[in-house]
Amino acid sequence: MDNSIFNFCAGPAMLPREVMQQAQQEFLDWQGLGCSVMEVSHRSPEYIAMAKEAEQDLRELLSISDDYAVLFMHAGGRGQFFSIPMNLMPQGGVADHVVTGSWSRGAVKECQKYGQAKVVTDITYQGNNRGIAPQSEWQLSDNAAYLHYCPNETVEGVEFDYVPQVDAPLVADMSSCILSRQINVNDFGLIYAGAQKNIGPSGLAIVIVRKDLLGKARSDTPSIFDYQQQFKLDSMLNTPPTYAWYLAGLVFKWLKAQGGVAAVEEKNIAKAKLLYDFIDECDFYENRVVKHYRSRMNVPFYLADEALNDKFLQESKQAGLLALKGHRMVGGMRASIYNAMPIEGVKALTQFMADFAKKNG
Ligand code: PMP
Repeated sequence: MDNSIFNFCAGPAMLPREVMQQAQQEFLDWQGLGCSVMEVSHRSPEYIAMAKEAEQDLRELLSISDDYAVLFMHAGGRGQFFSIPMNLMPQGGVADHVVTGSWSRGAVKECQKYGQAKVVTDITYQGNNRGIAPQSEWQLSDNAAYLHYCPNETVEGVEFDYVPQVDAPLVADMSSCILSRQINVNDFGLIYAGAQKNIGPSGLAIVIVRKDLLGKARSDTPSIFDYQQQFKLDSMLNTPPTYAWYLAGLVFKWLKAQGGVAAVEEKNIAKAKLLYDFIDECDFYENRVVKHYRSRMNVPFYLADEALNDKFLQESKQAGLLALKGHRMVGGMRASIYNAMPIEGVKALTQFMADFAKKNG
């Protein structure tokens, strides 16, 4: 691997170099078994021990109590958009939804297939800048089965700087912010995350769900998406995504070695500050999110002269700064700086951006 190349992709995203190297080293011979972890049964004692340890490490990283089940599920983040209503919303029920961007809107659309998805607030603007309406303005239902929100919108780069306080169980799509900052799991009824940003390969979803919410699935819920059934069978009702689970386990060990979530959060704050400060100080670039709702993980930005977009992308790629193109829905650029992105990557990016501005401004 080349140390001077930095991948800013929003997901699947870069994984810690040390993790990738370890995975490479033991790729053909895992635990001395003479074959790859990809080739062993999920029922084998070695695999089960690894799977349990991964769960245990995640529990330690997030201080998850025994009141919560930790599930390793199929079908990525979006797989939860339907699994949540199927498991938590009674027939004819209502679920409140906070819409702050593309992903929370996507969850609404899917939920509508199973009951009423009530949008309690939609994206707000302060001037041209995206923000989030104060909670006092949300139109909450009296009888919601849960309130769904996305603490970090990957496309728009809008992140909550607080946890909403509501009576209904709080359901959070943490696909792009899990393990990036400290949280109190007890604030939530359910937390879920597609793995491909801060956890591991795509396809896997982690679900952390309060046990009193289990056992309420609609009768037509497919078994592999039924939380209670998966909980009873240690997420092995069928063959789980074994390689993704293994790699997630390596990432959890890496995080612990970094000093855990608190230590990584410090680094994430420093990385985000470096990039936002640079953007704010340079007239050539602009971020369009209200300051206290700016994401620490996904930093969208626009060039003052959008005609230079292609040139910027071409030259940044040549400089070893990959995947900076913004999401097609919002345009511009986006730098995703998840846990695995070292500060050197952000320094290289700001240096490139400064040089580009000088040459083209
Ligand atoms: N939620 C959020 C916040 C995301 O960023 C994404 C993927 N970028 C998803 C859900 C969907 O995840 P997946 O592609 O794994 O279904």
